[in-house]
Amino acid sequence: MEYMKTLPKLFDFEAMPKRETLGNGLTGLDVISVDQLNREKLSYIFHRAHEMRELVERVGACDLLKGYVLACLFYEPSTRTSASFIAAMERLGGSVIPITQGVKFSSVSKGESLPDTIRTLEQYADVIVLRHPDLGSAQVAAEAAGIPIINAGDGAGEHPTQALLDLFTIYEELGRVEGLKVAMVGDLRYGRTVHSLTRLLMQYDDVSLRFVSPDTLRLPLNLMNQLLDRKIKVRETNDVADVIENADVLYVTRIQKERFSDPALYDEVKGCYEITPELMKRAKEKMVVMHPLPRVGEIHTAVDSDPRAAYFRQVKNGMFVRMALLAAVLGKA
Ligand code: ASP
Repeated sequence: MEYMKTLPKLFDFEAMPKRETLGNGLTGLDVISVDQLNREKLSYIFHRAHEMRELVERVGACDLLKGYVLACLFYEPSTRTSASFIAAMERLGGSVIPITQGVKFSSVSKGESLPDTIRTLEQYADVIVLRHPDLGSAQVAAEAAGIPIINAGDGAGEHPTQALLDLFTIYEELGRVEGLKVAMVGDLRYGRTVHSLTRLLMQYDDVSLRFVSPDTLRLPLNLMNQLLDRKIKVRETNDVADVIENADVLYVTRIQKERFSDPALYDEVKGCYEITPELMKRAKEKMVVMHPLPRVGEIHTAVDSDPRAAYFRQVKNGMFVRMALLAAVLGKA
């Protein structure tokens, strides 16, 4: 081209290291559902997440993802998921396009379609993290994109990276998953974190699941049928008192107000559960209380000082797991 002839080269490309990818089985993967993650992949991610913890504790950050860009596209509110993905990318030396202040400031507010927004962002980024209110939206995005899409919550569908950090937390806190009794409490119908965690736990032998919810918010039937098909021990109740004494993990969730089409139905169930210090007296000495957060009254703040309250440690684990996942899908770890 005519205009290129006159200038000396600014960069010596030959002398620069090439972008190379490690084939780890996760490189390039769209992370849409936890069903894509078998035990081998899970242990790979957890192993790396453990290393990421050590990295952060010893030196804070590194250059592993230097030169890589993450686009964080959030059509729904988020505190932890967006902040932890951003922190994860930055601690690995990468950078972020943060569209997390509501897409109202982007062209989505002008009526741009999800595939067009995705196809635009992939021109700038190497990986996209997407949160969207529609079930199946992450799959739609993955079909439009040539770079990895990580589902950060698709409506009432799934939230795979939350389930990863939940499972990692169970390992870190209790040392194992096999044989545990896990009680999930709250909005099991719309709670996507419950759906993803339940699916992951199906892969473990001898896990017993207890589901505690109001009748209107029971676990979706298709998920329950899958558990029964796999002969997983399950029990449903609407009273936390029925499960508190035996639970190794008490996984508490918020009633998902934004998913109710009828506010009267929300009013009927809001505030139906509260974990209190009183209730905790009946729990085992070695167990954990977890919550994907935000909480809106399901766990009394007086429980926070109980050593079994793991929900803020769980938050931190989210960053380590997301560091591991980003490095893995980008083929750098
Ligand atoms: N933060 C979690 C989610 O995005 C849980 C919640 O919102 O209740 O699904």
